[in-house]
Amino acid sequence: MFPHDNSSGLGPVDTSQSPHTLLKTLKFKSVTLNEGFWTKRLTINRKISLHFGFEMLNKDGNFDNLRIAAGLIKGNYRGYVFQDSDIYKWLEALAWEVGKDPDQELVSMADAAVELIAAAQLPNGYINSFVQTRGSFEPWIDLDDGHELYCAGFLFQAAIAFQRALGDHRLLNIACRFADYICSVFGPDKRHGTCGHPEVEMALVELFRETGEVRYLDLAKFFIDQRGQNIMKGHRSYGPEYNQDHIHVRQVIEAAGHSVRQLYLASGVTDLFLETGEQALLDAMLRLSKDIIETKLYITGGLGARFDGESFGDPYELPSDQCYCETCAGIASFMWNWRMLLASGGGCYADQMERVLYNNILASPALDGRHYFYINPLMLREARYLRLSTDLPPSEIFTPDQRPEWHDCACCPPNVMRLFSSFTHYLATHDAKGIQIHHFAPADIECDLTMGQRVKLNMITDYPWHGQIRLRIAESGNSPWGLSIRIPEWSQYPTISINGKVASDLRHEKGYLYLERIWQAEDIIELELNIEAMFVASNPRVDATRGCSAIQRGPIIYCLEDRDQEIRGRLLDIEVDKDQPLVTRWDNDQLDGVMVVEAGGRFIDFESWHGRLYQPAYSPVLSIPSPTRLVAIPYYAWGNRVIGGMRVWIPNKSI
Ligand SMILES: [Zn+2]
Repeated sequence: MFPHDNSSGLGPVDTSQSPHTLLKTLKFKSVTLNEGFWTKRLTINRKISLHFGFEMLNKDGNFDNLRIAAGLIKGNYRGYVFQDSDIYKWLEALAWEVGKDPDQELVSMADAAVELIAAAQLPNGYINSFVQTRGSFEPWIDLDDGHELYCAGFLFQAAIAFQRALGDHRLLNIACRFADYICSVFGPDKRHGTCGHPEVEMALVELFRETGEVRYLDLAKFFIDQRGQNIMKGHRSYGPEYNQDHIHVRQVIEAAGHSVRQLYLASGVTDLFLETGEQALLDAMLRLSKDIIETKLYITGGLGARFDGESFGDPYELPSDQCYCETCAGIASFMWNWRMLLASGGGCYADQMERVLYNNILASPALDGRHYFYINPLMLREARYLRLSTDLPPSEIFTPDQRPEWHDCACCPPNVMRLFSSFTHYLATHDAKGIQIHHFAPADIECDLTMGQRVKLNMITDYPWHGQIRLRIAESGNSPWGLSIRIPEWSQYPTISINGKVASDLRHEKGYLYLERIWQAEDIIELELNIEAMFVASNPRVDATRGCSAIQRGPIIYCLEDRDQEIRGRLLDIEVDKDQPLVTRWDNDQLDGVMVVEAGGRFIDFESWHGRLYQPAYSPVLSIPSPTRLVAIPYYAWGNRVIGGMRVWIPNKSI
């Protein structure tokens, strides 16, 4: 069983000792979530999804693959080459959950999995059930597509979670033995090459942070430096860009290739900067971020415009219906933006985290915690064509009633699980001046500031539905310290009061309000973000959505589901009238409780086209569209009643 007494309590990323970070991560246990929007989702993740994940990992053969590798059973390996990684992600989630609140069933599942992994590990430290069940032991024969180092990365992260959350070093011993073996194989004067799918880089940096072993940091740098030689072929015929092998990391100017690979690589590169301070790495990441934010980011925070190669598209290539927006790309973006935030202190990165969290990652799991989207389209045409994940057999391209339970390539569901389980890690940080609040949720936050005083805060909010954020100082020392509160990019007229008095002459720093004083216990800071529903337009170069509007309320992007509209089956005929005000109402009975937004709209007269697909553009308008009320729900909740027509972008009134 897990000894709890010697856990460090750190979270998935620890920059407390990183010399080039601007912000330092808090201990994982320093933030406790209270009842609110996220507790509902995270409780479902803990009580349903983790158990369901265990069921699926058994059913799909993931555990059996390890049993075969360990010689415990006979049989054939099942699934993709990276099946082990799904177990590791799920195990990481388990570690955070058990660390928060021990649960005997979760502990038993974790124990059994750790013992199985230990049994499967070879005496030299290597572990990968696909390679070990292939016959003679031949590791690293397919670096481009084999995913061995990718799987290793998730093992390292799970092991770090076990150590930090539970003080349980069994998995860390396994991870370090494997990492040491990898160190013995790869390096400047050893074997060259790197994994086709980045991930191990950030995991190795974290393993260095956890153990202090510099060789793991050196190996991360080696793997990062290996990329860009133009020798990887890319899956099928996508070419080296698919693996980000088309350009050296320090020369990167734009996001390219497979989106998850690009963003995991970026996370590792940013981690390397945080430890080494090499400016060329950060400069490259700043260029990458600018390219994504200005030309390749969906309004939902989703990334990856193309099914082909699960890749980024050209600048402004952001179709709504045939987009990819893989959940893992959203999670990778969240992880990368966290590291960029730590490196720079810039609120724009927390804004990106918020956008992708509420509108892409949260859209993946169904409200029941037992069904998951892999791909997150922004439009579905009457539910006639929905691709659920990549490389599907034709039988799986269909119109389902709900999200699939699992996927043949099940990378996304356990990735959501581990992110949700470690959610509180991302709410706040500290630096030499004080505390930074990045994300809003009811929570208790405590921190030992670098000047030696202990600070406790209590945050009360009904975010994201309402914009009031109330911070109560529960404990403070006698020295002045700064409280930084992020002002989200969408918030136009925020106001703030301290102990009931409206504050003026506010200091803004990098997207944060900065308040410094000798805080007293029971001081109250009240921020009003004025959440109001609004229309959003896209850059005209995004031709797929030119002339359209989306609805946003606070951090939440909305969509229209066919089933909510006055006349069903006419989602393609809808226009929105932006001259009419948006009306908001709380619906407690739908979708676990959501704020619904209604807009003035119209149905165009499709019949007047008489079946024609085209007609001269100067044809007279034969009939006036009929008015209707458009009913919009949060995009994250779509597809939870039945999967039907849906659209985020709505054409503006044409005449
Ligand atoms: Zn995925």
